[in-house]
Amino acid sequence: MAKTPQEVLQMIKDNGIKMIDLKFIDLPGTWQHCTFYYDQIDETAFTDGVPFDGSSIRGWKAINDSDMAMVPDPNTAWIDPFYKEPTLSMICRIKEPRTGEWYSRDPRSIAYKALDYLASTGLGDTAYFGPEAEFFLFDDVRFDQTENKGYYYVDSVEGRWNSGREEEGGNLGYKPGYKQGYFPVAPTDTMQDIRTEMLLTMADCGVPIEKHHHEVATGGQNELGFKFGTLVEAADHLMTYKYVIKNVAKKYGKSATFMPKPLFNDNGSGMHTHQSIWNEGKPLFAGDQYAGLSEMALYYIGGILKHAPALLAFTNPTTNSYKRLVPGFEAPVNLAYSQGNRSASVRIPLSGDNPKAKRLEFRCPDATSNPYLAFAAMLCAGIDGIKNKIHPGEPLDVDIYDLSPEELSKIPSTPASLEGALEALEKDHAFLIDSGVFTMEFIENWIEYKLDNEVNPLRLRPHPYEFALYYDV
Ligand code: GLU
Ligand code: MG
Ligand code: MG
Repeated sequence: MAKTPQEVLQMIKDNGIKMIDLKFIDLPGTWQHCTFYYDQIDETAFTDGVPFDGSSIRGWKAINDSDMAMVPDPNTAWIDPFYKEPTLSMICRIKEPRTGEWYSRDPRSIAYKALDYLASTGLGDTAYFGPEAEFFLFDDVRFDQTENKGYYYVDSVEGRWNSGREEEGGNLGYKPGYKQGYFPVAPTDTMQDIRTEMLLTMADCGVPIEKHHHEVATGGQNELGFKFGTLVEAADHLMTYKYVIKNVAKKYGKSATFMPKPLFNDNGSGMHTHQSIWNEGKPLFAGDQYAGLSEMALYYIGGILKHAPALLAFTNPTTNSYKRLVPGFEAPVNLAYSQGNRSASVRIPLSGDNPKAKRLEFRCPDATSNPYLAFAAMLCAGIDGIKNKIHPGEPLDVDIYDLSPEELSKIPSTPASLEGALEALEKDHAFLIDSGVFTMEFIENWIEYKLDNEVNPLRLRPHPYEFALYYDV
């Protein structure tokens, strides 16, 4: 619910708030925070922001140019359920105090620019996004982050016995079979209480909750559902979603991970993203074309599919993302669209006769993406499709996994690695820049950041599996 700064200041008084926790989004998409005594926040904080040193934030400013300001958004105020003292949380945008401009590398400000761009095209006034982020709950994960090692292992994964993996200490017999986690009741599903607590806690933090369930993978893969929202709202809710899930998991002595493929040979975790454009309260994706879509929706799909290889540099931005995008685990591999078919990367969910529910689901993204950048990039690709009337071709209404290699070779596929997606972005970024949403400097910094901090460090380390392959050669 929209709140004014005055309403937030009143909320602070009414709830005896002592501390104000200001959160913002760094380049890779995690929350950073700084906490202020309540009397430090007054009405000017909502316009001029609160100063801080932005020099040590991943992917941001150099040390010689580090003064920045956090400007809290009053609409995102909620009482943080994980702190002992009454603490109000707010999500911020980042301002350059010297110029008064929004910082060009602030992901939340980029998301706002995407909304301005949509309005400027006259195509519609609202873009709705509905992300479905899956995750695993593990009992324990140990990893050694020291410079020369960097390996990890997952301990006590529930249900390993049925997937052919060894489990020490026996089992209690109630475990989902291999790929049968979706979704038997308790006692096979041991995560009901923890998911319910996660969902209800999310509601206390202003997320419009819907449901929760176990997911397909053998042990501890889950998904919680919240209602779609406008682009920035949905990204804010996703940040809160991840925060609540990780913190409730910790309370239960578990850890939550959104990494797309934590377990070899089992289903990975995606973040399917539903999207549609509306104008003056009217849904623009419903019409008389294929699957009840409008021509505009088809062109939007055309834009998404055309730019998908480059788009994936934002929607699937980690080296682990590409271990999920392989055949056989309900993750999309081929760049095609279809009604109902879950093996296509764009699916049009059945929505009955209700035009308001007409939307498309892009199935590639995962929750290691920065949602503000990922949603903004998808919207730019979709709008490019609409403006240039990019038709997506014929739908693919067969199970893509059943096609012959020859038929399959005609369908373009997702990049095989993060490096591949970054190379595609290097070649195909005009749709992001011409819109004014992303700058060339931002794209270059993103590619460099991902290569220097993720692609190359991984490439330089001997992989545990290489020992199995090559140790005794
Ligand atoms: N876990 C699957 C994925 O990686 C999706 C399963 C589902 O359809 O919900 O995309
Ligand atoms: Mg799912
Ligand atoms: Mg889905």
